Amino acid sequence: MTITKKYKVQDIYPTFQTEPDAVEDDISEEVTKLKFFCGKINAKKNCCFSHRIGLPQHPATLNQMKFMPHQDDLVKQALVDNQVKFHVNKSRQIGLTEICLRIIQYQCFHKYKGGRVMIIAGTREKTTKKVMGRLKQMFGNIHNVVESDHNDLLIRLANGTEIEGLPSNSEAIRGDTKIKAILIDEAAHFGLVDDSVVLDAVEPIVMTNKSDLFLVSTPRSQRGFFYEIHKGENDFKKLQYDFTNAIGWIYSKEEMDKELTRTDIDVDQEYRCQFTSGRNSIFGVISDESTEDFEVEEY
Ligand SMILES: [Zn+2]
Repeated sequence: MTITKKYKVQDIYPTFQTEPDAVEDDISEEVTKLKFFCGKINAKKNCCFSHRIGLPQHPATLNQMKFMPHQDDLVKQALVDNQVKFHVNKSRQIGLTEICLRIIQYQCFHKYKGGRVMIIAGTREKTTKKVMGRLKQMFGNIHNVVESDHNDLLIRLANGTEIEGLPSNSEAIRGDTKIKAILIDEAAHFGLVDDSVVLDAVEPIVMTNKSDLFLVSTPRSQRGFFYEIHKGENDFKKLQYDFTNAIGWIYSKEEMDKELTRTDIDVDQEYRCQFTSGRNSIFGVISDESTEDFEVEEY
């Protein structure tokens, strides 16, 4: 019996590539078919987008966890076809930045596909880079949908969508017909003498393009556009998520009770969503140092 072996060109030239493109396949189309989350902790094959990129991790145990009810609530309200404008007043460290980034990431394959998304976070580029860094990390497991992310402040997807990070003082906040969504993170903390310039730059873009707008922040004294929108009558959907939303999820009631006794921070503001007339605003002036001391939310 003769065994005939079929030789391939690689048997002689192992590094020879017969495929013209050695790049990974773009899986954008496949990702587009996934729903946001299947609701289960354990993944099944192609069950959902959230399993594809990885569920959130508990900040201490690093165990995978489901979305918390307030995160689910925002997802439900945000993943709609028509334009959404949110004013989200939130406690610190309850995963709100995280869920906004995940919503934006998902919509890059749906509603925002082919367009541009602006993420405005912090007055310093350093803060913006940190938020963009988290987003890049979340693209890790589906990295073949990314065309380029070498720039610290820009992610370009293979399907044409671009996500750009901008500091709040950036002159680059300008109109562009391709802008599908804008996230302003820690909107109350920009520390500009008059932060209305940021909103003045963003509002015409949102109005012209019918872009989605996410204004997210912990409160910071009774001033600035985040407070004015909170107080006034307008077309923003106002949501409020205080510390109680994350009890039993990322911290226990006992841990939180202890945290709430702290006197070095204004716990009413940081955890209870209250716009207090805190120490920084006594003279109506906020210095740069006092306002940009917030931490970018890592969970
Ligand atoms: Zn799933």
